[in-house]
Amino acid sequence: MAYDFDFFVIGAGSGGVRSARIAAGHGAKVAIAEEYRVGGTCVIRGCVPKKLLVIGAHFAEDLVDARRFGWRIEGQSFDWPTLRDHVLADVDRLNRAYQSTLDTHGVTTFHARAELVGANRVRVGDREVTAAHVLIATGARPQVPDDIEGAGRGITSNEVFHLEALPRRIAIVGGGYIANEFAGIFHQLGSSVTQVLRGNRLLKEWEPALADRLLAISMEKGIDVRLNAAPSRVEQLKDGSLRLHLAHGRTVEVDQLLWATGRVPNADGLGLEALGVQRAHRGQIVVDDRGATNLPWLHAVGDVTDRVQLTPVAIREGHALADRLFGGRDWRVDYDHIPSAVFSHPPLASVGLTEPEARERLGGVRIFTADFRPMKNVLAGRDERALYKLVVDAASDRLVGAHMIGPEAPEILQALAIAVKAGLTKAELDATMALHPTMAEELVLMR
Ligand code: FAD
Repeated sequence: MAYDFDFFVIGAGSGGVRSARIAAGHGAKVAIAEEYRVGGTCVIRGCVPKKLLVIGAHFAEDLVDARRFGWRIEGQSFDWPTLRDHVLADVDRLNRAYQSTLDTHGVTTFHARAELVGANRVRVGDREVTAAHVLIATGARPQVPDDIEGAGRGITSNEVFHLEALPRRIAIVGGGYIANEFAGIFHQLGSSVTQVLRGNRLLKEWEPALADRLLAISMEKGIDVRLNAAPSRVEQLKDGSLRLHLAHGRTVEVDQLLWATGRVPNADGLGLEALGVQRAHRGQIVVDDRGATNLPWLHAVGDVTDRVQLTPVAIREGHALADRLFGGRDWRVDYDHIPSAVFSHPPLASVGLTEPEARERLGGVRIFTADFRPMKNVLAGRDERALYKLVVDAASDRLVGAHMIGPEAPEILQALAIAVKAGLTKAELDATMALHPTMAEELVLMR
């Protein structure tokens, strides 16, 4: 049977764009549909604008610290619209760059929502097209609790990049990476931040010592962290502000409320039920390690499969799929040792097993820590300590986990992740000469 396309990709985000581009490069006739903006979550309303805000927010501390280094800075002020508009302009630039990549590879772009209407058949806007293979790369969306009265008065990460004005007071609900990143951003920019958690720990999946350190530093900086404070109701007051009702009768009044309470796979309304596509408890599309669903012509990658919700993972999954379908190269994404970061103030970064995970999975574990005040903080009179932690398998001496909180931790950890991935031993780290004076030298000096 002749199809309109060899490959039809639904969703032009991290996974979809990469898969479409690689497939087209292999000679396939490819189309992609995007209902919002080409680039997807990471580029349009995730990693990229978030990181730019983190960088912008960090100047607040740098300007204070600069005085201790002899700089006299007078009359400085912060203007939110300037930062916001420059960030959004960069997002526009990237959006154009992604579109141009698709165009130069000959990929047909439909700027419309797409859904499946039969086997190998997609409705896109008001057209129907057929394709030999269809990829669902529709990502995930913010989850707002549906059991909290007035929850709709808050915003999510989708809206936060477009705020008219910097809120004077903001409540951020959540303890995951997005909540901690925005708590840091708004606090640095001058908002009064209350971070609200149902439980009693930030970053539950992370190395506990680092999460505890972030909590202590955040509170010391002046972020009001409310633990065990499940929200129950959001009330709008006469002056337009919001009163958030928390457990045990406590309340907090704010001008803006940000839900950072997780992300759910975007798999509804795609016509999956009628086709019998297998999904799991969070609605995610079930795939094997090659991105294959239970239908031979249908594939899925990225956040919609709810495996590891990170851009480099979605990109690699999309790439592997296109290579397998159209490039004659069958390879699998390796999910071991995926590094990740929280761009909080200060940031965290991690790869491999945490201490509790290692103790459960391996017999003997050796732990090495460096708990120190970075030299810049010392001179700045900033009592903020970095913490590095290495987890080593006692039997083999192999480095199985590395966890850091402190300035530039994600930049340093990306290089260390190579050592963990390569299975280097602690002895090999010790044999590496220190590069002095750096923070990273601590990694080869832990005994
Ligand atoms: P997406 O990039 O979400 O793309 C899916 C696309 O499909 C979207 O553009 C959507 O509009 C479109 N779509 C959905 N349904 C349809 C339809 N029916 N028809 C047509 N189009 C459709 N990851 C990191 O690695 N590092 C970070 O620092 C980081 N920070 C983040 C910060 C925030 C605030 C958020 C929200 C996410 C962050 N992420 C980060 C996660 C990262 O953005 C995602 O893991 C990544 O974008 C997933 O890629 P994807 O291809 O699966 O989906």
